[in-house]
Amino acid sequence: MESPCCPSCKRAVSTRPENPFFPFCSDRCRAVDLGRWLGGEYRIAQRTPDEDEDGEAPAPEEALH
Ligand SMILES: [Zn+2]
Repeated sequence: MESPCCPSCKRAVSTRPENPFFPFCSDRCRAVDLGRWLGGEYRIAQRTPDEDEDGEAPAPEEALH
């Protein structure tokens, strides 16, 4: 029976009960993979500051109520 491989370093990993980091072999490999994934995701999802500030500004009159 083949053991699964760590997606990050391709080494054999043990499965869940004994390996809390499954499917990764270690916390480090999990962080590496997560960082890679988030890095790409953030670049796409990042909003431009302009877009936020050009949105509806709260009416000054309402704030004075
Ligand atoms: Zn690994």
